[in-house]
Amino acid sequence: MLEIRIEKTTKPKQKPENSAKLPFGSIFTDHMFVMNYDEGKGWHDARIIPYQNLSLEPSAMVFHYGQEMFEGLKAYKTDDGRTLLFRPQKNIERANNSNARLCIPQIPPEIFLDALKAVVKMDEDWIPTAEGTSLYIRPFVIATEPHLGVKASSSYLFIIILSPSGAYYANGFNPVKIWIEDDYVRAVRGGIGESKTGGNYVASLKAQEKAHDGGYNQVLWLDGVERKYIEEVGAMNIFFKINGTVITPQLNGSILPGVTRSSVVDLCKSWGYPTEERKISIDEVFEAFQKGQLEEVWGTGTAAVISPVDQLKWKDHLMPVNPGKIGPLSQKLYDTITGIQLGKIEDTFHWTLEVK
Ligand SMILES: *Cc1c(COP(=O)(O)O)cnc(C)c1O
Repeated sequence: MLEIRIEKTTKPKQKPENSAKLPFGSIFTDHMFVMNYDEGKGWHDARIIPYQNLSLEPSAMVFHYGQEMFEGLKAYKTDDGRTLLFRPQKNIERANNSNARLCIPQIPPEIFLDALKAVVKMDEDWIPTAEGTSLYIRPFVIATEPHLGVKASSSYLFIIILSPSGAYYANGFNPVKIWIEDDYVRAVRGGIGESKTGGNYVASLKAQEKAHDGGYNQVLWLDGVERKYIEEVGAMNIFFKINGTVITPQLNGSILPGVTRSSVVDLCKSWGYPTEERKISIDEVFEAFQKGQLEEVWGTGTAAVISPVDQLKWKDHLMPVNPGKIGPLSQKLYDTITGIQLGKIEDTFHWTLEVK
């Protein structure tokens, strides 16, 4: 067990009253987990302290060279009062894959898990229970060495903050409109596209603004070289159901390996759908649409779980997939995954972990 020093807040904050109207990611709980890394010393001084500002030198390397890793997962309260995490080991494994790529030291998985459990346990009264709500968990690492000059930092902070959150999209579990970007690119193979790190998101903002200006919710990225093969959406992986077959782009080095993506692949296979992880081009999607075989499109990610897509826009082509409607498989996936997360459906895959 990790030795964690605990300093409880003396000024507990007011919890949100109407948990049915919670925003996403803008309210934070009373406490946070913090741990330091220093070269020669390793990770040390694990602590849970009141949620507070950080004190960093303006020369801290994260501000200049972007050496940063983050994760996102959720805790849920079941009807019988248990607190469940969904596949936290997958997030920990991915965090360390990101760390490896970003020259950030590895965080021992058992220490990471102890930290997650301890801070969630501390603030478990903050887990909202209204439909579609949960406690969003944001672990992250930043480079703190005060130094100008490009190299890996010799010191880091690992922090976990918690945010009671409602639906990721203001309109909840409802179809989203997706803009297919053919000018800007998000990532290329060999880059950092498969790491969860801030740099990927700043790279995406310009196209995101373009999509919003055009009345679209999210950007769907094509590969950075040929701008032909489908990669993923801003913060979601993407699935297509074409003529009965479920298809998602294979992990190729520039796509973020989503935990929800992996769960959806497992579920679709277990239900007997032919399920393929492979290269899929935008031309193939457009052709399927024209033939009337593009049955469903949905995005997958921790924040929104399943986001049914009812419209795709690519160049001058508008593809209304299921205008205003949620496809039956999208609905079944959403009901099943959220049912497992909330302890309402039997967890045959052993995906949930109880925080005791
Ligand atoms: C986090 C993220 C996803 C989804 O991953 P999950 O583990 O399912 O939440 C997909 N794409 C990008 C770019 C992401 O940052």
